[in-house]
Amino acid sequence: MSRKKTKILQAPRGTYDILPEDQIYWEKVRRVVRELADDYGFARIDTPIIEDTELFIKGTGQTTDIVQKQMYSFRTLGNDSLTLRPEGTPGVIRSYIQSGMINAPHPVKLYYFGPMFRYEHPQAGRYRQFYQFGFETIGGQEPVLDVQLIQLFSHILNDLGLKKINVQVNSLGCPECRPGFRRGLVDYYRSRKNRICPDCQKRIKINPLRLLDCKEEKCQPIKTDAPLPLDYLCHGCHNHFKSVLEFLDELDIPYFLNHQLVRGLDYYTKTVFEVWPESDSVQSPEKEEAQEIKEPISLGGGGRYDNLVKMLGGKVTPSAGFAAGIERIIYLMKEQGVKLPSKSNAKVFLVQLGELGQRKSMKLFEELHKAEIKVAESLSKPSIKSQLRIADKLGVKFSLILGQQEALDSSVIIRDMQSGVQETVPKEKVVNELKKRLAKK
Ligand code: AMP
Repeated sequence: MSRKKTKILQAPRGTYDILPEDQIYWEKVRRVVRELADDYGFARIDTPIIEDTELFIKGTGQTTDIVQKQMYSFRTLGNDSLTLRPEGTPGVIRSYIQSGMINAPHPVKLYYFGPMFRYEHPQAGRYRQFYQFGFETIGGQEPVLDVQLIQLFSHILNDLGLKKINVQVNSLGCPECRPGFRRGLVDYYRSRKNRICPDCQKRIKINPLRLLDCKEEKCQPIKTDAPLPLDYLCHGCHNHFKSVLEFLDELDIPYFLNHQLVRGLDYYTKTVFEVWPESDSVQSPEKEEAQEIKEPISLGGGGRYDNLVKMLGGKVTPSAGFAAGIERIIYLMKEQGVKLPSKSNAKVFLVQLGELGQRKSMKLFEELHKAEIKVAESLSKPSIKSQLRIADKLGVKFSLILGQQEALDSSVIIRDMQSGVQETVPKEKVVNELKKRLAKK
């Protein structure tokens, strides 16, 4: 008789499970982000994972890679066009406008933590569902606010134990001066059109700033001599950027100017930045694992977006923000050997025998829990031997043994796991006795 093999279902391509053994890293990132958000005065916001598609077309930008190629968009039964959010900022700004935060004291400082979705080519460090945390400072045009975000980002990475991190900064100018730069760039590339890749030929028309982002070998020599945004900055943007750099110097935050940093999104004005691991902090040449990230990839990035609130229907509200990729941060934590203390382990193991023993041990479990004594158990194992073996493996200090006889006598055996000495104590005294003995260990 032929038996049909049941197909083992896989997580969709580009998605993955965060397994129990990894949760300790996620917990650490969540905790550090939460604590520093609090210290720097940012309040948590959670927006829906789905938004109107129009939000990203207007906000992220019609000509960006995200909107052109990477969105998971669908029509609902009610014929609405919705999109799984590819990034967090447009949703946060929509919420700021919709919920009337405009009337709150400014700047309004918000942060988020959650999954994003982009239809990208999956590889190590690049997923279709990935997690970001992000910070937004809404309503404030001072350079110090840009710098505070960079400082906070560095602080988070530092508290996560990461080393060898680079901050790259650039300025993209404003609606006053950027058109001049764009024109300069387009003229420069037009006259070299037959020497650039087909993608760049398209970029000249639809998104010239992205010309500076091109990774194609062929375009590199041309990119090297291309006009730079800094040469086109108006007086205001120039001064703004100068202040940003002075603040960074003052704070001893190491940075370098990346004249070709443009970020992929339409809404940026003035300062843009990205945070990268130094290349030798990512790869160890002797390691050839399939999941190894082959080239350094940014941990996060952001910048100033003075026009986004207005673009989404609010008032002119200069703002700035950044988003960081959590998978990449955790990858780097592991790569750099960041040690995390394992979760506080149970000091006591509860061994139960027979139905009566089992019943009473569940009650005792509750009492110990109330007394804040962490207990492990293996309720499904029937033999004392196998339960003590588990207790041994867990490295607990004491086991409590509750069998038929102890259940009838209202007593419990305390076994010192190191010496193997056992003592029977009345059940009502066991919590105090344990506390005393644990304090001595
Ligand atoms: P972006 O705003 O696109 O630069 O994204 C900010 C950060 O999110 C990046 O620096 C990455 O750390 C992370 N990120 C972006 N896209 C992905 C992805 N597809 N998979 C994993 N992380 C990503």
